[in-house]
Amino acid sequence: MKRKVLLIYTGGTIGMEKDYETGSLRAFDFGNIFQKLPEMKLIECEVSVHSFQKPLDSSDMGPKEWKIIARLIGENYNLYDGFVILHGTDTMSYTASALSFMLKNLTKPVILTGSQLPIGDLRTDAKENLLTSLYYASLYENDDAVIQEVAVYFEYKLLRGNRTLKYSAEYFDAYQTPNYPVLGQSGVHLNIEKDFLWRSKTGKQFTVDTHISQNVLFWRIFPGMHLEHFSEIPNMKVLILQVFGSGTIFNSKKTLHTLQMLRDQGTEIVVVSQCVSGGISFGKYSNSNIFTKIGAISGNDMTAESAITKAMHLLDNPDYKGSFAENFAKNLCGEVSVL
Ligand code: ASP
Repeated sequence: MKRKVLLIYTGGTIGMEKDYETGSLRAFDFGNIFQKLPEMKLIECEVSVHSFQKPLDSSDMGPKEWKIIARLIGENYNLYDGFVILHGTDTMSYTASALSFMLKNLTKPVILTGSQLPIGDLRTDAKENLLTSLYYASLYENDDAVIQEVAVYFEYKLLRGNRTLKYSAEYFDAYQTPNYPVLGQSGVHLNIEKDFLWRSKTGKQFTVDTHISQNVLFWRIFPGMHLEHFSEIPNMKVLILQVFGSGTIFNSKKTLHTLQMLRDQGTEIVVVSQCVSGGISFGKYSNSNIFTKIGAISGNDMTAESAITKAMHLLDNPDYKGSFAENFAKNLCGEVSVL
């Protein structure tokens, strides 16, 4: 039986071709993808294409586009066996993370991919990324999808979407999940690490919850920074602080005073690490005690992208019972290692 995959084209380098006369990149009509890539006809799934009317550089993608994609998947969920989203690489990890929270109790694959070189370029990485993503999106065993989560496929690696970060603007191998193993690797054979795949244990039906609040702020601290600037920002609901190492900050009365003042105003403070590998461990050093004192929330080993989109999704979301802190601490869809 031929599986059906919906290919959603949003923009980015992958949908571009080089004008060899001028040397510049231009978007091509993605409806013509079958002419550009005749190999797509050989793949063992039926592909339908849905293109954004105006292809976007992914730096223009945000909550509005995340919601459009989530709703599109919701409306087509029963019509397709899998979904592939073609996306610019710059913010792909944000979109993948946001979608992982919006698409609840997934039982079908949602694979994001893109490329470092345009699909029309001679040395392009787009072809492999696209064809193998389609393969993973249509991979079923005994009528069950093998991948039941939002994943990123890039340069021979299948990765958990909400664990990814773009770490290279140069190499084809542009994404990593430093705090989670690779889900699959494609070489001569296409491998899947079944033990690492996410499975929803809620027993609930798939739903789309597009709630996103933009009242979230992210700040990276640095030696010598004046935290007092925070008091100039009105009505801050969530402040995500990206701090040193395993959760340390300059230990002064001023730091405690400023952060406590924010907490007294009702600001939730989430702490993530500036290290891409490992995470927050309150109590390991005395310079993290300020955070326990003020009741900050540990972001544990989450990526910044995941912590930001999780906070956006949870803040003032009427569908979650309990406090923001309680919900943030939970592992909702494989985004955090809860110890
Ligand atoms: N600026 C592009 C984007 O993110 C880069 C890419 O697609 O690789 O849309």
